[in-house]
Amino acid sequence: MDTKVRALKSRLLEINDLESANALLGWDQSTYMPPGGAPARARQMATLGKIAHERKTDPELGRLLDDLKAYEQILAYDSDEASLIRVARRDYEREAHVPAAFVEQLHHHGATSYAAWTRARPANDFATMEPLLEQTLVLSRQYASFFPGYEHVADPLIERSDEGMTVTKIKALFSALRQKLVPLVQAICSQPAADDACLHQTYSEEAQAAFGVAAIKRYGYDFERGRQDKTHHPFMTKFSLGDVRITTRFKTNDLGEGLFSTLHEAGHALYEQNIDQNFEGTPLAGGASSGVHESSSRLWENLVGRSLGFWEHAYPKLQAVFPAQLGAVSLDTFYRAINKVQRSLIRTDADEVTYNLHVMMRFDLELDLLEGKLAINDLPEAWRQRFKQDFGITPPDDRDGVLQDVHWYAFLVGGVFQGYTLGNLISAQLFEAALAARPEVPTDIARGQFDTLRLWLSEHVYRHGHKFTTGELLERATGKPLTIEPYLTYLNKKYGTLYALELRVDAE
Ligand code: ZN
Repeated sequence: MDTKVRALKSRLLEINDLESANALLGWDQSTYMPPGGAPARARQMATLGKIAHERKTDPELGRLLDDLKAYEQILAYDSDEASLIRVARRDYEREAHVPAAFVEQLHHHGATSYAAWTRARPANDFATMEPLLEQTLVLSRQYASFFPGYEHVADPLIERSDEGMTVTKIKALFSALRQKLVPLVQAICSQPAADDACLHQTYSEEAQAAFGVAAIKRYGYDFERGRQDKTHHPFMTKFSLGDVRITTRFKTNDLGEGLFSTLHEAGHALYEQNIDQNFEGTPLAGGASSGVHESSSRLWENLVGRSLGFWEHAYPKLQAVFPAQLGAVSLDTFYRAINKVQRSLIRTDADEVTYNLHVMMRFDLELDLLEGKLAINDLPEAWRQRFKQDFGITPPDDRDGVLQDVHWYAFLVGGVFQGYTLGNLISAQLFEAALAARPEVPTDIARGQFDTLRLWLSEHVYRHGHKFTTGELLERATGKPLTIEPYLTYLNKKYGTLYALELRVDAE
C-alpha cells in the first residue's frame, strides 16, 4: 500500500504545482501586470488550467483511488492518510464530471472578463460587461448541467465552495437570520447616526500601510511566509504553505477601507499559514470551505478588529501615527465611528449588522439569474429596485451598484456570496467556543496579545486544513452544528450597548 500512497501523493503534488503556478499568474494579473499583458495572460492561465484539469481527471488517478479504498477503510477516519485519500477522491469525482474543454473556456473567459471589469467599473460602464456576463451565466448553468440530479441549479455551484450546503439549507438559515436582522437594523437606524467624520479626513497611504502591517504582525501574520501588495479588489492567495500572500487597497479619505481589508485578508492568511506543514502540496493544504475561510477573516476583521478591547491597545498607536487627524478624537468616538451602522452602498464597507443583507440580496439575484427568472439586461434595474427595498436608498450608478463586486465578472455566477454570511455565523460560533475554553482571550486582546486566540483557532480549526467538512469541523470545535444564535447574541450584545437598545431585539 505504501507504493500506492506514494504514487497518489506524487500525482497530487503535480496537480498542486500546476494550480499554484496558475495562482501565481493570477496574483500577478491582479497586482503588477501591465494592461497589455491581459490577452496573453488569459490564454496562459487557460492552458495551465486545462493541463491541471487533465491531471485531476486522469483515469489512472481514479484507479489508484479505487485500489486504496480497502486500505482507507482500515485507517481511522480522522487520520491524515485516510483524510488525504477521502478528500482526493471527492475532488476527483467532482472534477471528472467537468469536461476539459469547458475548464479551458472558463479560465479564458474569466481572465478576459476580469480584465474588462477593471476598466468598466471605474468607467461606470455596465454595457461593456453585459455580453461578458451573459456568457458567464451560460457557463454557470452549463457547469451545473454536469451534475444532473441536483435539486436546485445553484446547488452544484455551492457544493464547489461550501460542500454539503444547498439552496434549501441556505434559504432556511438566511430567512431566520433576516427576520432578526431587519428589526435590529431598523431599531439602530432610528437612533441618531454615529459620527464617523474622524475616519474621513486625509490619511497618507504610506502611513496607513505601515500601521496595517504592524497590526497584522501582532495578529501573527508571518511576513517570512507572506507579503502584501495593492490591488483593485483585495484577496488572499497561496502558492505553498510557505508563501501565503495578501493584497489590499487604500483610500486617502477613508481610513477604514485599507485598515479593515488588511485585517480581513490577514485573517484568511492566518488560516493558511497555520495549516499542518505535513499537508504541504496535498489537497489537505487548504481551508475546509469558503464559509470556514470567511469565518477566519471576519473573526479577525470584526470580532477582534472592531472590538473595544483591540482599540484600547491599538488606538494610542494609531493616534501617534496620525496626531493631526486623531489626536483630539476620543477612543469612544473612534470606536463608534468604526462600528457605525448605516444603510450604505458597498458590501465590503458595510457594518456588521447590515452586511448580511448585502449578501442575501446578491444570493437572491443569483438564484433569479440561474433560474432564468431574471435577464442580464434587467440586472442593473433589478439591483436598484432590490437595493431600495432592502436599504431604502438607490445606488446613484452601476459602479457602486451592480458592478461593485468582482465575483460575477471573474468566474461564475453562483456559489460564492453565501460563504460570506456563513462565515459571519461561523466566526461567532467559533469565537464563543474559544472564549468558553480560554476566558482570558478578551483581556489578552486588550493587551495587544493575540496568541491565545490564534493558538486555539490553530488547534481546533486551522491545523486541520481541508481534512474535515464544515459540519464536522464545527462539531469538533464547538460541539454543535452551524447555528445562527451565537452571531445574533454577539450582534445584540455589542450593538445593544453601542446604540442603547435596551435589548429590544433579543436573540431568541
Ligand atoms: Zn474574505
